[in-house]
Amino acid sequence: MNPNFSLCVYCGSRPGSQPAYAQAAQAVGEWIGRHGGQLVYGGGKGGLMGIVASATLSAGGRVVGIIPQALVDAEAANHDCTELHIVDTMHERKRMMAERADAFIALPGGIGTFEELFEVWTWRQLGYHDKPIGLLNVDHYYDRLLEFLESTVQQQFLGDWQMKLIRTGTDALQLLPELVQAAGLSAAPRLADI
Ligand code: AMP
Repeated sequence: MNPNFSLCVYCGSRPGSQPAYAQAAQAVGEWIGRHGGQLVYGGGKGGLMGIVASATLSAGGRVVGIIPQALVDAEAANHDCTELHIVDTMHERKRMMAERADAFIALPGGIGTFEELFEVWTWRQLGYHDKPIGLLNVDHYYDRLLEFLESTVQQQFLGDWQMKLIRTGTDALQLLPELVQAAGLSAAPRLADI
């Protein structure tokens, strides 16, 4: 059966210091699975990435993992994925993740997460795609980044319209349906869960 929507999740390959991060990753995966969705992600087993993937699978969702050959061992490729694609380069991974997704959401993470978020954001402002992008600000993790970005609007290096291309929220259960709806899709719960 085709999934109702495909959501690309960018998040840490580590769990981070606060239990709230893992709880948010778990909630995101469960929500995707319960609403008949498909997770598209980097295909690793570790950290928040692994938590989102196993929560999606446990809740009955599909999981598409895309990982470069060079990272199969370093990031512990997740062979439980419904589809695991081992690709040649990081560029191919990111292109395929973007192509397979209807919308994107970033959770707390490190440099890889930042790079992926900024890349889809710049692609969006250039008009390479028109898919919604969300930033889940779990436990104030992104407060300082958001403050800095607002300051760049004040400094006139960023337009207000560019800032508005990212939807931010602190509650996964509110932000996720917003993104799916903005992608023009429906996130109806599966009948079994009603
Ligand atoms: P991190 O947020 O640093 O824990 O990384 C999360 C994921 O982003 C990992 O699967 C990384 O392989 C991936 N990633 C994507 N692009 C990059 C990049 N340019 N540099 C480092 N990691 C990246």
